[in-house]
Amino acid sequence: MERLKAKIRDIVDFPKPGIVFKDITPLVKDPAALKLAVHQLLNPFIGERLTAVAGMEARGFIFGALAAYELGIGFVPLRKPGKLPYDVHEIAYDLEYGSAGLEVHIDAFAPKDRVLLVDDLIATGGTAAASCALIERLGAEVAGCAFVIELDFLGGRDKLAQYRVHSLLHY
Ligand code: AMP
Repeated sequence: MERLKAKIRDIVDFPKPGIVFKDITPLVKDPAALKLAVHQLLNPFIGERLTAVAGMEARGFIFGALAAYELGIGFVPLRKPGKLPYDVHEIAYDLEYGSAGLEVHIDAFAPKDRVLLVDDLIATGGTAAASCALIERLGAEVAGCAFVIELDFLGGRDKLAQYRVHSLLHY
């Protein structure tokens, strides 16, 4: 894990004063670190029945798509409002910096689906909790939530108390 932590770059006061942004671009550029991160993200869920991975725009697409490929299942993008072309469900939520919304195609999941939610980072947990609510609105089950980074001091995990939460790097 120290090998992965060494690939996370802190950007102070981005995108707003007071925020320390955890930049994952050095990690995803390093082939060994990228492979290790994806394998470790999936480790607790191997052998379970999973039918799809959902990832949030934009950095959740990187890890989520790789996780889906590794598992041999499909990937569902949860996107910022106005980006998805077909009919959508939308949810609004609060961020560590500002507020936001996410959309999913209405036919992205079915009630039989067991979905693994993947993102680069959990901060306040608002994005992940909203994502789980969207997945459940389509009748699917959230099998778990996997993050590369967890900002423990923000307590985001509390918003996901009813789900299995797995994070690789804790700050
Ligand atoms: P939250 O909803 O507060 O858990 O915020 C999580 C989302 O915002 C994730 O999609 C992250 O990519 C992004 N995010 C929030 N805080 C940070 C941070 N300090 N560094 C990098 N990304 C962040």
